[in-house]
Amino acid sequence: MQRPDRDLNAFPFIGLSATQLEVTKLNGERRFVCTYCGKGFSSARGLETHIRVHTGERPFSCAQCGKRFTQSGHLKTHQSVHTGNRPFGCLHCGKRFAGKQNLRIHQQKHHPNEPQAP
Ligand SMILES: [Zn+2]
Ligand SMILES: [Zn+2]
Ligand SMILES: [Zn+2]
Repeated sequence: MQRPDRDLNAFPFIGLSATQLEVTKLNGERRFVCTYCGKGFSSARGLETHIRVHTGERPFSCAQCGKRFTQSGHLKTHQSVHTGNRPFGCLHCGKRFAGKQNLRIHQQKHHPNEPQAP
């Protein structure tokens, strides 16, 4: 097995410290390895995104409600809440929800005495 050499100085890193990543070379290809879990990435960007799983950093925030997310994709999914993709409507007051679970919570909170939708 080939022994990867560490090559930390070669990387102008964005927000990562040397304790969070290990840069290895395998077959001449650079790999960015998460030191928390050992997962490898082909790009620094990919590892940077991944490492937030461990650090809890949430750089993406929703402009409408301020909720924060680790990944831009998660923010995009969340924003459907604001952009009107709400297939679930409350039978009692007409309020609409993006998720069935959200609707259920709403009905339990606001209409506890009404018959619940199946
Ligand atoms: Zn990791
Ligand atoms: Zn929001
Ligand atoms: Zn309602």
